[in-house]
Amino acid sequence: MTFKSLGLSQSLLHAIDKVGYDQPSPIQEKVIPVILDRKDVLASAQTGTGKTAGFTLPILEILSQEKQRKRKPIRSLILTPTRELAAQIYDNVNAYSEFLHLDTAVIFGGVKQQAQVRALKNGVDILVATPGRLLDLHNQRLLFLDQIQILVLDEADRMLDMGFLRDIKKILSIIPDRRQNLLFSATFSKQIKELAGSFMYDPEMVEA
Ligand code: AMP
Repeated sequence: MTFKSLGLSQSLLHAIDKVGYDQPSPIQEKVIPVILDRKDVLASAQTGTGKTAGFTLPILEILSQEKQRKRKPIRSLILTPTRELAAQIYDNVNAYSEFLHLDTAVIFGGVKQQAQVRALKNGVDILVATPGRLLDLHNQRLLFLDQIQILVLDEADRMLDMGFLRDIKKILSIIPDRRQNLLFSATFSKQIKELAGSFMYDPEMVEA
């Protein structure tokens, strides 16, 4: 299997080549075509399986195919539990989008908000965020979530373990109903299944 045969276009293939990936990992082979098909996905995947590229590459493909708007609205929101994970995902997205005209920002708590707010000012296509800081900036009307088309809950089990369930429910109530949902989790507790059942539409199950 090659990245090309998964349906990714030239600019992405060029970037993948540059970061040095020879072929897709098992989770990437399974999940990339399903996301490109615009289906909801419930994926069981541990860290280290290549799951980040598994969701970010098809998101970049989808967004790069859409007509660019002058004032960029956030079209994809990636929620993740910690600032370290947020920073890692942000770095990956930036590497993969080197040859695309897409902009990404990252926001997380525990640091001053000014630099993050500045990064959002000119409009971004993709936002990587931890739930608390996202709601904080949203409540201050420093970001708008009314154009979200693709939502990712990354490490959903850890987000629940860290007590983010209420924040996640609040975020789900703010963003548009018509959207694609991708949930990645290492484990599938009753609580995760309940959460997934509450907002996902007939999700495709994918295992690494
Ligand atoms: P993740 O599970 O998303 O945290 O990824 C784990 C590591 O695997 C990261 O350092 C990625 O850069 C790397 N990686 C992701 N996909 C591939 C691939 N297809 N081939 C080689 N390395 C990869």
